[in-house]
Amino acid sequence: MDTSYILNEFAEERELYFNAVAPPIIQTSNFVFKTVDEMRNAFNDEYSTYLYSRGLNPTVDMLRKKLAALDEAEDCLVFNSGAAAIFAAILANVKCGDHIVSVRDTYSWAQKTFDVILSRFNITTTYIDGTDIENFEKAIKNNTSVIYLESPNSWDYNLQDLAAVAQLAKRHNIITICDNSYCTPLYQKPIKLGIDLVLQSATKYISGHSDTVAGVLSGSSELITKIFNSEYMNIGSGIQPFNAWLLLRGLRTLPARLERSSATAQKVIAYLQSNANIENVIYPLDESFDQIELAKKQMKGAGGLLTFIIKADTAEQIENFFNSLQHILMAVSCGGYESLIIPKVAGMKAEEFDSTIAAHRSIRLYVGLEEAGYLVDDLNQAFQKMHE
Ligand SMILES: *Cc1c(COP(=O)(O)O)cnc(C)c1O
Repeated sequence: MDTSYILNEFAEERELYFNAVAPPIIQTSNFVFKTVDEMRNAFNDEYSTYLYSRGLNPTVDMLRKKLAALDEAEDCLVFNSGAAAIFAAILANVKCGDHIVSVRDTYSWAQKTFDVILSRFNITTTYIDGTDIENFEKAIKNNTSVIYLESPNSWDYNLQDLAAVAQLAKRHNIITICDNSYCTPLYQKPIKLGIDLVLQSATKYISGHSDTVAGVLSGSSELITKIFNSEYMNIGSGIQPFNAWLLLRGLRTLPARLERSSATAQKVIAYLQSNANIENVIYPLDESFDQIELAKKQMKGAGGLLTFIIKADTAEQIENFFNSLQHILMAVSCGGYESLIIPKVAGMKAEEFDSTIAAHRSIRLYVGLEEAGYLVDDLNQAFQKMHE
């Protein structure tokens, strides 16, 4: 299916709602039945019909169909956050005493699921450097049930060879889960590479406007149906119709926004690479990137998220830079219309800062939809105030 067809036409049923171009928000908690028999059928299989909006809802269904098509997956569920999608995907595929292999430095709440929640059920996790396929081989045990991936991850954008990990996992009957928030399905399709379950925080590029929190989980009908009937219904963290509608709206412009962010990121990267205050820039599709060949092989693009290492002797210099920014907003998240920036030092105590450690001087920048010159000017004036 063409991306344009998925975004503009697929799963729309305009004749059902007055031929309106934009879909309605079916803001209802429940659905009515005409006969006892119909109600009985719905009770028997809630994944087959509209009964109650904690389960299926028509506005959410339209979104699910489009997102599954983008992922080239058989089915998908949309959650009220990316974290809920992560939690459901993992929980559905482990039992007491199991073992998980996870790449290091994944999204922090994935790690908390492993370290804080699953550890209470005697489920252990081995964290590995996922840039080398041999590390997966070595970490797998008899009781390994899940391999958890995030490619690229946040901040340093480490990649895993998704096709190779998927092959290895299949040989050992292990479920693979991949966080694809960095690329979105437009720039990477893990399901096509053999990954079982792919998730993304729809809060980021899918919403695109920094106004809703949501998560997507795609996979085979078998895996997704099982998750619907247990984790999805039990946790009750499905997306609400209005938020689903916001995501449908965001999807319309997703390709244009990603293209614009990527193109502007290139210009900002060129500026940063020529700036004497910068040690280096990390971006998966930059020629200087460690895993550039793998990035080119499995990703079609890289969006607006990049990291740069600033030259600084003290945390105060970094703080001066940040406190001087006039337009780029200091905030978490990414994927919206607005450029965002976070210093690593915000996540540590000021006295822990060690200028000899590059990671302490690392800064994550999300390039939004502004003009490149507008962002470069802002960065430039803030660099000048660093040493004041
Ligand atoms: C934001 C994010 C998440 C979590 O998604 P929420 O929608 O905030 O719950 C998971 N993974 C990555 C890589 C993210 O950036």
